[in-house]
Amino acid sequence: KWMIWHHELVLRSDVRVSPDDRGYVFGDGIYEVFRVYDGRIFEPEAHFERLIRTAEGTKLTLPYDTASIQRRLEELLDREGVRDGTIYLQITRGEAPRAHPFPAGAEPNLMAYCKELARPSEAMSRGISAVTLDDIRWLRCDLKTLNLLPNVLAKQEAVERGADDAIWHRSGTVTECSASNVMMVKDGIVRTHPANHLILHGITRAVVLRLAKRLEVPVREEAFTLEELASADELFGTGTTIEVMPIVGVDGRPVGNGQPGPVTRKLQQAFEEEIAALRRR
Ligand code: PLP
Repeated sequence: KWMIWHHELVLRSDVRVSPDDRGYVFGDGIYEVFRVYDGRIFEPEAHFERLIRTAEGTKLTLPYDTASIQRRLEELLDREGVRDGTIYLQITRGEAPRAHPFPAGAEPNLMAYCKELARPSEAMSRGISAVTLDDIRWLRCDLKTLNLLPNVLAKQEAVERGADDAIWHRSGTVTECSASNVMMVKDGIVRTHPANHLILHGITRAVVLRLAKRLEVPVREEAFTLEELASADELFGTGTTIEVMPIVGVDGRPVGNGQPGPVTRKLQQAFEEEIAALRRR
């Protein structure tokens, strides 16, 4: 019912988006998706740091400081009574007659809403399937911008082929999934693409790498190929809404024995404890 528009809590039914909003016309904007557990925002600092990096990378000036944005988001959660869910936050370059150069004097438009969302418990215990697709995106995949057409097309192709998600590769080098990062396990070692310009620097990815370190699970932030993926013992995706998600089939073939593996389970367990710790705080 309630959302944030500019810097105010307003009723959703009172929000009017201009046809001149550059987010609407050009996809000229940036966003974040936050996870909420027990009414608290998970990893807020990391999300706001990424928002700032994305704003810098797209030359968009944040209209408010991140501490006050966070306070507003917390007010929104209280107002809506969301306990377990997500917050969607987006900032566009504002409204102006359609022309590519940045408009002089346009104010960025900020909007945010939250919703209740159950954790995907069943999929996390059973695992999901994926297909591999060419990563046709630009070379700044580290920026979380509104331009998600490649992600939308990839997800749709996965769905049409009867799979749950798409795993992208550039000339055979695996980058990430269409809305998550991807990690493989071989001989007990976790491998994942380094956090450079070719992938989104996932907050969940960072949490999982931190947990792996704590559990003394060896990790190599080194890209792997489709061939290496084909011989992986385990594979999993990481993301704000999917958490640590086993991927048990790729292109119609089982990964390892086709069941979520022991390293994936261990990391899921540790992630569960992170959430429990947040609830206790
Ligand atoms: N990669 C892509 C392309 C994404 O859209 C996302 C967002 O969910 C992720 C990775 C995972 O990032 P995070 O863990 O911050 O949700």
